[in-house]
Amino acid sequence: MNEIYLDYQAAKPVDKQVLEYMMPYFSEIFSNPASLHNSGDIATEKLEESRKKIAQFINAPEISSIIFTSSATESNNLAIIGAAQRYHKKGNHIIISEIEHISIFNICKYLERNGFQISKVPVDQYGIVKIDKLKRLIQENTILISIATASNEVGSLQPIEQISKIAQEKEILFHTDAIASESVIPIDVQTIPVDFLSLSSNDIYGPKGVAALYIKKGIRVNPIILGGGQENGFRSGSHNLHGIIGFGKAAEIMKKEINQEAKRLEFLRDKLIKGILNSIPNSYLNGHPTNRLPNNAHFRFDFIEGESLILGLKDQGIAAATGSACSSKTLEPSHTLISCGLLHEEAHGSLLISLGRYSKEEEIDKLLEGLPKIIKRLRLLSPLTPQELIKQYNEVNN
Ligand code: PMP
Repeated sequence: MNEIYLDYQAAKPVDKQVLEYMMPYFSEIFSNPASLHNSGDIATEKLEESRKKIAQFINAPEISSIIFTSSATESNNLAIIGAAQRYHKKGNHIIISEIEHISIFNICKYLERNGFQISKVPVDQYGIVKIDKLKRLIQENTILISIATASNEVGSLQPIEQISKIAQEKEILFHTDAIASESVIPIDVQTIPVDFLSLSSNDIYGPKGVAALYIKKGIRVNPIILGGGQENGFRSGSHNLHGIIGFGKAAEIMKKEINQEAKRLEFLRDKLIKGILNSIPNSYLNGHPTNRLPNNAHFRFDFIEGESLILGLKDQGIAAATGSACSSKTLEPSHTLISCGLLHEEAHGSLLISLGRYSKEEEIDKLLEGLPKIIKRLRLLSPLTPQELIKQYNEVNN
């Protein structure tokens, strides 16, 4: 397909090296690692090899701290519900931020219905968690803080090192969802002491349907999926062997490439941001100008509906998003943008461009060429566009 793909935050292609590496694990090495025969032993060996690669990817001191799951959503569920149920006698208060992923929000709604108290830390205009407010929300009965490493929408990086220290001092567990950042920001759970960290395979160019939760040694959670007791009882269900093998390979490649890749994407991101803000009147960058994911550019355009913009880009063979794919079917404005202080109408005119391993400079150039024209066309049709701007557009035309 000849599409310019700028929606890496929603899904990433599987790296060809990963795919090739996975191939024998569909029909040749396919046994259940729980089986006691020889091919079961081989499957176990390969499973553990993958676990080791994931542990190395985040510098986890213990390989057994990696628990395989089926999705980032499941990892978040296991961390938060699992810890809430395990430690409920210690307290029933959990702190998250106002801009967490919808999976975290819905987990917390479920816990609220089951007797837990949830507090949401506000963010500043850039989508960065307010540390002073976080400190004030901590109570005697706070058992867990869950704050993502970076916003999957506006791309702002959170001060997780500071947050993890605060949590440690107060003996509160800390979970971070690293899904949005794992392909561009190296993770080191020994430098930043987290208790739980959610990772997903597809977000580092591995296959879909497989993910992991890092659980620090000594921390326990109640399992949320019960069955045969796989993954040390933390997560039952037969292993998705080929998926896990692919995930391990993807982590191995990402570990080697991440710094170089982030630098390259940062260059493309900055070219894109500068190009758009300079060429389109009434355009703004959402999120922090510099303290943001190297692969994320999130814009807002006055007098524009984000959905019409996506359709205009689609006509030109460009794939982009208005925000988080997981919330794209709702008509509600993004909770992240509203928390950053935008008005409803401002939040509706947004565009999320997320770059990745196969993004090229020519693609950015094509977007920079096409987008101003689409926006101009939409604005000339919109009853919301002020006469002054229409006049300005018409003058440039003549
Ligand atoms: N957390 C974040 C930050 C995400 O962006 C996503 C969506 N990719 C998820 C969790 C959930 O991922 P999945 O839908 O693959 O379970």
